[in-house]
Order: sequence, then C-alpha cells, then structure tokens
Amino acid sequence: MQFEPTLEFARSQDDADPLRDKRTQFYFPNFGTPELVYFTGHSLGLQPKTVRAAVELELDEWAKYGVEGHFHSTNPWYSYHELLTPPMAGIVGAQESEVVCMNSLTTNIHLLFVSFYRPTATRYKIISEAKMFPSDRYLLETQARFHGFDPDDAIIEVTPRKGEWLIREEDILDAIDTHADQVALVFFGGVNYFTGQLFNMPRLTEAAHAVGAVAGFDLAHAAGNVPLSLHDWNVDFAAWCSYKYLNSSPGNVGGIFVHERHGRSFDLPRFGGWWGHDKETRFQMQSGFQPMEGAEGWQLSNVPILGMAAMKASLEIFAEVGMPALRAKSEKLTGYLEYTIEQLAAEFPDAGISVITPGDPEQRGCQISMDIAGRERKLFDDMIAAGVIADFREPCIIRMAPVPLYNSFEDIFTFGQVMRGLLAEGET
Ligand SMILES: *Cc1c(COP(=O)(O)O)cnc(C)c1O
Repeated sequence: MQFEPTLEFARSQDDADPLRDKRTQFYFPNFGTPELVYFTGHSLGLQPKTVRAAVELELDEWAKYGVEGHFHSTNPWYSYHELLTPPMAGIVGAQESEVVCMNSLTTNIHLLFVSFYRPTATRYKIISEAKMFPSDRYLLETQARFHGFDPDDAIIEVTPRKGEWLIREEDILDAIDTHADQVALVFFGGVNYFTGQLFNMPRLTEAAHAVGAVAGFDLAHAAGNVPLSLHDWNVDFAAWCSYKYLNSSPGNVGGIFVHERHGRSFDLPRFGGWWGHDKETRFQMQSGFQPMEGAEGWQLSNVPILGMAAMKASLEIFAEVGMPALRAKSEKLTGYLEYTIEQLAAEFPDAGISVITPGDPEQRGCQISMDIAGRERKLFDDMIAAGVIADFREPCIIRMAPVPLYNSFEDIFTFGQVMRGLLAEGET
C-alpha cells in the first residue's frame, strides 16, 4: 500500500474505513490535551460505551432477585460464563468446548501447568523466550522450583543474537532440537509484549510435538490483536487476559484454551473446584471430583458477574466485526505508523529513532516498538505531555499500538506532527 504523510491522505483513509464508526462506541480518556491520541490499547483497552448498561443490568438483577438471580435473572448467573464462550472461541480460533473464561491470566497459566508441565527426572526443560513478560518469568521460575528443579537449568531462554532485538525462529527451533530429549514444554508469548514480535505458533507447536514436548502460549498480546487458529494449529493449551486488546475492564477475568484432544483426559492431573465439576451433579455437593469435559473442567469457582457483564458487552463488538475485518484494517494502520516513524527517522537522521518490531506483517500484530536510543527519555515525556499516550520501557523503547477498533489514520498523522515538532525542537 502507498502511504502519504499528509492530513488529506489520513482523512481519506479514515473515510474509506469500513470500521470508522466503531471509534464512536468507545470512551476516550481526556487529560485536558487538545489532541489526545491513545496508543496504549496494548496495556488497557478503552471502555466500550455499552459496558455501563451491561453492568447496571446485573446490579439491578442482583437488587431485584438476590440469590435467585443465579437462575431467574435475564442472563442467569449460574451459566453466565457460557455466554462468553462463543465470541471468545471465535477470537482465538477454537471450538467452543476448548475455551472458557475464568480467573486471571497468571493464575490460569499456573493451573494449566498443573496439567501440562509434567516434568520427569530427565525431561523437565522449558524452552521459552528471553524478555518474557515478568509475570511469566516469575511463573516459570517458581514452577521449576516447585517441581524441584533449578530454574537456571530447567528454563532455556532463547535470546536475540548480539546486537539484535528480535528472536530468530531458527534459533528457537535449534534450541528445541538441542534439548530434544529433555524438553517437557515449549512456552512462548504469542506476541512479545516488548518488541511486538509475533511468533509462528503452528511451527513452534509442531517442533515441540516432534520432540515429544507440549506446546503452550501466553496470548495476552495476541488475543483480539492477531488472527489465531489454536485448534487447527494443534496447540495444547493457551491462556490470555481480556483487558488489553479485548477491552473488558481493568484486571477482568481471562480466557483459557485446552485442545479438544485433552478435554476428555480426565486422568490428567489438575486442581479441582466445584465449577469444574460435572454440571449434572454439581449441586449434589458430594465428594469425588468428576471434571467436566473440555476447558470447563479446569474451572474452580463460580464467576464474577459484574466483570463478566463488562466482558460480554465488549466481546459483542468483536463478534459483530470479526477478526478478519479487524486484521485487514490493523495491517494498514500499523503499516502507516511504521511508515510515519520511518519518515521521521529520514527527516531527522541524527535523532536516532527506529522501529524494532518486525517489518513483515506476518510477524507482528498492531504494536510498533520504537527505539529512541539516540534520545533521552524526555522525548517520551514530551510526547505524553503533547497528548500522545504511549508506554516507555527501559532502556529506550516506546511501545505504541494503533488499535483497529478505535484508532484512526488521523491519530497516526497527529502522532507524526507531534513528533516532528519535538524532534525539530531537539535540533535547535
Ligand atoms: C499483561 C500480561 C500479563 C498480566 O498477567 P495478569 O495475571 O493478568 O496480571 C501476563 N503475561 C503477559 C505476557 C502479559 O502481557
């Protein structure tokens, strides 16, 4: 696609955008700046305007019915989580029986590790990525220790080569082969939170299976961002949160995927709770845990209705739009942001700015990570002060996500103008 660095171009793209009206379905924060550009959907998605009514409905039902709301409210709470399954399964490319929404992300990965990280004395290693999100690193470290292994020995982090930011796929495949007899699990983020690199999940899954290991993914930065086909890719398990690209409210419940072929493995070790117990006999309250079939068999507790109401409202937007339309717009928007940064880099060669995210759309979602190694962090602070809301990570990376549901081409043009002003100031 041919991009142009003009307001006319940006506006013409917005006019031609079939999703342009979606933007009006979200609340944009206002920090009192005239030109607010929200590029932090990678950390917390914006609030859909439909959320309030959905939450208020449940507050009203609770007031009206008390405990009877479990069965008599408009959307009975007893089975409320089931309403979220079809749209969520659509987002991650799964069968409905393979997905359930529950708990929070890190909790869910720990629970899934109970079943899918089953190390033995000789096969206990986890192949993972360097610079994983800290919560995942703590998780891996404590899981290794829990099973009696030294994390430094058990966790193999594949790192970028010297002087590079991205991890080469061949290096991941090499690591799997090198440790072939010792690998229990290959565990990666779908999209790396720092660089925005999208890993080839079907390829990694295949490589893991080829050496007799399990493949699992943390999809915090992938769900709602990139097309996923977890079922067809044969992924063993995955988990994600819903408050980043899925806009479901801060800290809300996450989702899990367990491949169909494990859904009836009732002898897999797992931690049980009443909500994962066979629905038919749940209220007989007897001992003898019988897990439900599918992902639902990993549930523990009855569900937080208010949060799920917000999530239901948000997922309805995804169901309406569909991932293919989102992805089509996303590739253009992200391409335009990359182009805009490259233009700035060419205009201000001494500023030392560049894009570290892969240039190939197949290897990224909507996040662009910009290296500002040639400048102080002050450039980022000035950007925020000027109304472009992004995120800074040490040592020198600004992470931005133009989100196709609510960002526009004009947002990106505005970002370019703001940066141009700041970089020009820096030259004088
Ligand atoms: C955001 C994020 C988390 C956050 O975990 P919570 O348990 O929801 O607090 C974990 N892992 C990754 C990769 C993330 O991006």
